[in-house]
Amino acid sequence: MLEVKNLKVAYGRVRAVKGISFSVDQGQVVTLVGTNGAGKTTTLKTISGLLHPESGEIWFEGERIDNVPAHDVVSRGLAHSPEGRRIFPRLTVEENLRLGAFARRDRAGVASDLDRVFGLFPILQERRSQPAGTFSGGEQQMLAIGRAMMSKPKLLMLDEPSMGLSPLMMQRIMSTIVELRSEGVTILLVEQNAQAALSLADHGYVLEVGKIVLDGTGQALLTDENVRKAYLGEE
Ligand code: ATP
Repeated sequence: MLEVKNLKVAYGRVRAVKGISFSVDQGQVVTLVGTNGAGKTTTLKTISGLLHPESGEIWFEGERIDNVPAHDVVSRGLAHSPEGRRIFPRLTVEENLRLGAFARRDRAGVASDLDRVFGLFPILQERRSQPAGTFSGGEQQMLAIGRAMMSKPKLLMLDEPSMGLSPLMMQRIMSTIVELRSEGVTILLVEQNAQAALSLADHGYVLEVGKIVLDGTGQALLTDENVRKAYLGEE
């Protein structure tokens, strides 16, 4: 469904992504894990058209998208819930969610997806008329995921959804990801919390300073000795 080939991305002279290749198959949860600065966020931004690569190719559903503008990428069914949430604090919860559906013309579909998001996150429904800026970090995270879902994505990219969340809230987000997969949404998950991400991922890629150093099934990486030492805090 998504294929990234030898992708290189730079900020001026700073090389952030140094030739990575990976793929995401339909119906899978695939995760990119790695420490701060490994290039995970840069990779997602490049896939969603916010950055353009120095070289390499990005294919989505058989079409090349690495020079397609961001709004066009969304219309093709690829949504991005960015790091740091980026919700609009002065707009209400519902207005934030509806913005996620900006590219859609099917009003009935938008209404039913709004219900679906409210079903997944009841707090968003309870507070649908409140400004989003009054929400806690975890609630804003739910809103950001909900907003990305409102574009009815075929592929949903989530950047650090667990960042700053309590363990309980993180559990809730992780089980939402599993629920979305069971509904047929394909997910590319970027996480610093490797334990949580690998536990639910079908496949994982480990990034270190702009390169993929290891990949395998979530379970295989979880039990890999090097991964355990480097990312799961074991001696
Ligand atoms: P984090 O989890 O901390 O966001 P990451 O794996 O997502 O880490 P990136 O944010 O993609 O990493 O950053 C990769 C590299 O690119 C880092 O060395 C970072 O300092 C650099 N970088 C990121 N954004 C910029 C920018 N706007 N200008 C210059 N360098 C940048």
